[in-house]
Amino acid sequence: MRFSQLVTALPLWFGSVNANQSWAGWAGLGDQTKWSTPCCSPNVVDVDIAIIGGGSGGIHAAIHLKDADASVSVIEKKDQIGGTQKHIPTLPPASSLTLVLSFLRTQTWSSGIPIPAPDDQQQAIRAAAQAYTKNVLSKYGWVDQGFLVPDPVPEELYLPFSQFAENYNFSALLPTIAQVDWYIGNLTTLPALYGIKSLGPGLLGSVFGEFILSSTGNSRSLYDAALKELGSSVLLNTTILNIDRHSNSTGVTLLVSQPGSAPKTIRARKLLVAIPPTLKNIWSFDLSKQEEAIFSKFSSLGYFAGVANVPGFNSTLTNMGALTPFNQPIIPGNHGFITTGSPNEFQIGGGFDSGDVTDEEGKDLVRKNLATLAAVGAVPADAAHSVTFPYTSNHMPYNVRVTAEDIKAGFYAKLLAPQGSRNTYWTGAAFSGHNSALVWNWNEGTIVPGLKKDLGLK
Ligand SMILES: Cc1cc2nc3c(=O)[nH]c(=O)nc-3n(C[C@H](O)[C@H](O)[C@H](O)COP(=O)(O)OP(=O)(O)OC[C@H]3O[C@@H](n4cnc5c(N)ncnc54)[C@H](O)[C@@H]3O)c2cc1C
Repeated sequence: MRFSQLVTALPLWFGSVNANQSWAGWAGLGDQTKWSTPCCSPNVVDVDIAIIGGGSGGIHAAIHLKDADASVSVIEKKDQIGGTQKHIPTLPPASSLTLVLSFLRTQTWSSGIPIPAPDDQQQAIRAAAQAYTKNVLSKYGWVDQGFLVPDPVPEELYLPFSQFAENYNFSALLPTIAQVDWYIGNLTTLPALYGIKSLGPGLLGSVFGEFILSSTGNSRSLYDAALKELGSSVLLNTTILNIDRHSNSTGVTLLVSQPGSAPKTIRARKLLVAIPPTLKNIWSFDLSKQEEAIFSKFSSLGYFAGVANVPGFNSTLTNMGALTPFNQPIIPGNHGFITTGSPNEFQIGGGFDSGDVTDEEGKDLVRKNLATLAAVGAVPADAAHSVTFPYTSNHMPYNVRVTAEDIKAGFYAKLLAPQGSRNTYWTGAAFSGHNSALVWNWNEGTIVPGLKKDLGLK
């Protein structure tokens, strides 16, 4: 029976409970006198599924589960849903090849020297993409469906991606990957698993075909519509104080707080975690030893995005390394100054090899790049000083991953094992890869069916 049906049949013993108390009363098993506060008191919420994280994975799952008639509560720490895609529009509406070639033809600046790209690269890129599709993607058909890494793990999946590319004859594709797949890590050291994950059949098809864009040109509108649909089921600006997944085998209890309100208890039959599962980020969880051992393996990259206003500058510059392998930009580095269409305003994305990046470090990186560009006259001389930041967003931890050794030791089989246990499911980029299509595939193929089955939903 689903919770939404159950709640109407239950008596008043659904009282308030602090997160450390058992709530066996839900199943009619507890001491009923304990539940003296009337049902539906304002600081207790009873739902089928509590979802932690109102980003791409959390909101997508919430809509699907609501469509299946489940009641949900989405707990989001920020003041709006939509996670990493916030105000940043998706890639420009150019067809793939134009996009690739425009990257190759654009001025580069890692050393401040403009570099013309040879025109014959187009053919080499196409041939490499064909080799990659034929020999790699056909072999790893699961790559857009989650980290369904075989056991034992094929050795080539933990080789450096550039070596893997050489073995499969698609090295000519790597400079394109370094540009369009920003920032996935250093291609010469990145384990091949993550390189393939970052360019599965879906994204490759878009790079050489078309990207799907919101009709407004801003992916924010998707989340505005979702928020309208989910209404008060979404709790913004919310901090999790405690999570209890132990006391009752039939549900979980969360204690959450919002500024200016008394803490709220959320009692749910199932929990869906849709935030990056680094230990720092899930400190309030009652992790089992097994979960802790798994999640402690994760480390991440850093990504600082936003809009920079550079007075007196109005064209687009893309960052390609002049002397680096596969023309990768030097990291930390910005992927470019991509015009937004508003005068002097540019999208900026800063990639870092460490997940611990402050906002100030993100802005300093932009200033440093502008100083390099000013020295060769590519931007106004005072750009590094006059730049302002109308909007920024720090996306750490970004690209949550493990080492090649951990991949070899079967990390991803261990990561999949706890799904569903202790009434908890896990979604998001760490479980599927870093683009929304991958996260939504994972939700639709694994998470939503699992939750629906457990809850007896159609
Ligand atoms: C600048 C940028 C642009 C991108 N553009 C695209 C694009 O155009 N197309 C595309 O497919 N992919 C894009 N991506 C990648 C895509 O956004 C991510 O792969 C996707 O958002 C990952 O989904 P997620 O649910 O794992 O995480 P997120 O979408 O980041 O969602 C996690 C959510 O959890 C919240 N949260 C974190 N910790 C807590 C906590 N303790 N309690 C409560 N809430 C918490 C966060 O605030 C966030 O809202 C982009 C990424 C970046 C950084």
